[in-house]
Amino acid sequence: MFISQRAQRTSPSPTLAITAKARKMREEGIDVLSFGAGEPDFDTPEFIKDAAITALREGFTKYTPTAGIEPLRKAICDKLWRDNGLKYEPNQIIVTCGGKHALYNTFQVICDPGDEVIIPAPYWVSYPEMVKLADGVPVFVYADESTGFVPTIDAIREKITARTRAIVVNSPCNPTGAVFPRQRLEEIADLALRHDLYIISDEIYEKMVYDGHEHFSIASLGEEVKKRTILVNGMSKAYSMTGWRIGYAAAERELIAAMTRIQDQSTSNPTSIAQRAALAALQASEDAVKQMVTAFAERRRAIVDGLNNIPGFRCAEPGGAFYAFPNVSALYGKRWGDRVLNNSDAFAEYLLEVARVAVVPGSGFGADENIRLSYACSLDTIRNGLARIAEAVQALG
Ligand SMILES: *Cc1c(COP(=O)(O)O)cnc(C)c1O
Repeated sequence: MFISQRAQRTSPSPTLAITAKARKMREEGIDVLSFGAGEPDFDTPEFIKDAAITALREGFTKYTPTAGIEPLRKAICDKLWRDNGLKYEPNQIIVTCGGKHALYNTFQVICDPGDEVIIPAPYWVSYPEMVKLADGVPVFVYADESTGFVPTIDAIREKITARTRAIVVNSPCNPTGAVFPRQRLEEIADLALRHDLYIISDEIYEKMVYDGHEHFSIASLGEEVKKRTILVNGMSKAYSMTGWRIGYAAAERELIAAMTRIQDQSTSNPTSIAQRAALAALQASEDAVKQMVTAFAERRRAIVDGLNNIPGFRCAEPGGAFYAFPNVSALYGKRWGDRVLNNSDAFAEYLLEVARVAVVPGSGFGADENIRLSYACSLDTIRNGLARIAEAVQALG
């Protein structure tokens, strides 16, 4: 059957794949503990659901403007001012079907064939695929535990060529939890100004920061930096609304207009009633968000300490998001039956088969020495999962 080259060169999401595999094992009656989830385990707050129900009852079920209803775009402007000190007008906002869609539209609008986008690694799995779908070229700049998973400015500078169009900043970062220090953001902004680059700032985990770490939006470094920044955020993580599919981008009017044209001809508006739910979420107090973050902070402590107590595991402190990203390469070379555990895929498979614990191999994030464990799960799951992992590691000898 004919399948386009574009579709053929697009990889499926490895994070969704491991979650699916764990679910399947569970359906077969196997007791699997999953650390695969890329979403909060809390239910969407009741008042947000109520807003959607009211919208339904009122018959708010028709097309809306492609870029989102005006009150929601205004509420997003208010949020960006309140939380980030950024002044945007509603015509500088596009509401999208999740933050993912905002990023997809962004790459469609800023990439011509062959344009390079610098992506700090370890990276969220979708960035390189989205860049390729826009006929762009992902260029990786690697960082590891030695720099807290934040690339040095020299390493970034070395990757800049005449074809570089943009640099992605994802702070707090999925999968590493790294929060970029303000100084590095200033240096990146400086590079962007000097080399005429866009900055794509994915701030979806902004509310999830711990231990005195603070989120800082690179766009707030000045008017010139803001003009070059496409700020992406959304409802999924902060409000536990992954299934509702509401995200947004804020940028210069011409960029938003171009993204709106792409969206006009593809998805049209995000779901009308989900937009009303998002409006309610943004207009309310942040009590629900704060409760969730408090729970995450406790789980983070438990999982990071627990992982560091397992021989062969080395886990850096994640400053934000809800993932631990331990380095397990000290265990590579160990034997499992007639196999050698020599990469993150084999190691994750060993943990799934032997410990009945689902983790995501680091290979998909550009970090084959690491595995990702989401701590968006109960403390019980964390304790039991760590005990199972420790036992399986001990069995390796
Ligand atoms: C979850 C996530 C997103 C956006 O998710 P949506 O559900 O599409 O809003 C964006 N970036 C990163 C790094 C994420 O982990």
